[in-house]
Amino acid sequence: MSRIVSRFPLPPMSLGTERHLTVHAYGDPDARPKAYLQAGLHADELPGSLVLHHLIRRLDSGEDGMPGQIVIVPSANPVGQAQIHRGQLSGRFSMVDGTNFNRDYLNLTTRVGNQVDGRLGTDEATNVALIRDAFADILGALASETEGEPAYLRTMLMRLACDADIVLDLHCDDEALMHVYLAHHLWPQAEDLPAFLESPVTLLANRSGGDPFDESLSAPWAELRERFGDATPIPSACLASTVELRGATDVGDALAEEDADRLYRFLQNRGVIAGGATVPALSRPATPLTAMEIVKAPLPGIVSYRVPLGTEVSAGQPIADLIDPTADDPAEGRIEITAGTDGLLFARRSNRFVWPGESIAKIAGTRALPSRSGALLTP
Ligand SMILES: [Zn+2]
Repeated sequence: MSRIVSRFPLPPMSLGTERHLTVHAYGDPDARPKAYLQAGLHADELPGSLVLHHLIRRLDSGEDGMPGQIVIVPSANPVGQAQIHRGQLSGRFSMVDGTNFNRDYLNLTTRVGNQVDGRLGTDEATNVALIRDAFADILGALASETEGEPAYLRTMLMRLACDADIVLDLHCDDEALMHVYLAHHLWPQAEDLPAFLESPVTLLANRSGGDPFDESLSAPWAELRERFGDATPIPSACLASTVELRGATDVGDALAEEDADRLYRFLQNRGVIAGGATVPALSRPATPLTAMEIVKAPLPGIVSYRVPLGTEVSAGQPIADLIDPTADDPAEGRIEITAGTDGLLFARRSNRFVWPGESIAKIAGTRALPSRSGALLTP
């Protein structure tokens, strides 16, 4: 299958340097559905980039036709990828301004709404086209006035993705099972995504706080629907999701090839790629992000886990010990860390030294927790 590779320059932050974003595109640029996939927004998270490498190889083989189009950005953050500091790649936060590369995306609901106000009608497809055009116009104007690499990169990635029917932002956690973040307003229509990925955890929230990339593209559709009411039909026309491809060290050709195949079959099911694919059963129901407990350390110490990833735990169940090896009496130098909710323990910490407030584990529960309000994502 023919592929066009484009390189978009990023504005240099220093003299004598030049960076660019590499974009691979398949299919007619006017074809629908359009799928946009990116990885490495947190530049030190490698599983997604390797998966997209395998997806590109698979698509290049041209075994099936492509009624739609696919845009792939295998390494979405050349800025973060250059942040090698004393032997460590540090790609989550910008060293220029300290911001998380997957936060602070523009909330364009009001601006897009104002631009289409008075022009929307009773035809859903026309409304979708008008809204997508407004997104593109606004982001095009913003790109020319955005200064600084981190902010420009955010705007540029949104421009590439803003007219897509499907947006998948591939990340990974620390030590984790596969998990998928989706908006409530996309559920259950988007159930085939975690089903094809065989993801045991699906976490739902419309706006989780912090304005991550995926929500900047999906949330406006629901918010515009609310603003304009039933007389002007506006669907959730952008299925945007953050996909956490397990843990940071789950990187290898065999696993990445399997994940690329899972994504391929999902894209077939969505009509982007030709060929049918039977939707597998979802292994575990989706749960609200407000029901995901982040178990935090009360004291500094060394964590020793009692349960592996994938354990269904109960509230009050000890999941780890926190050990102070300097205690006068070793018998008193440890405390039990317990689960605060019933659910699936799906993420742990690889660096076993923690300090107060640091996350030790994540548990996907079913009941909203009082502690889970405001910003629902980790920093
Ligand atoms: Zn990430």
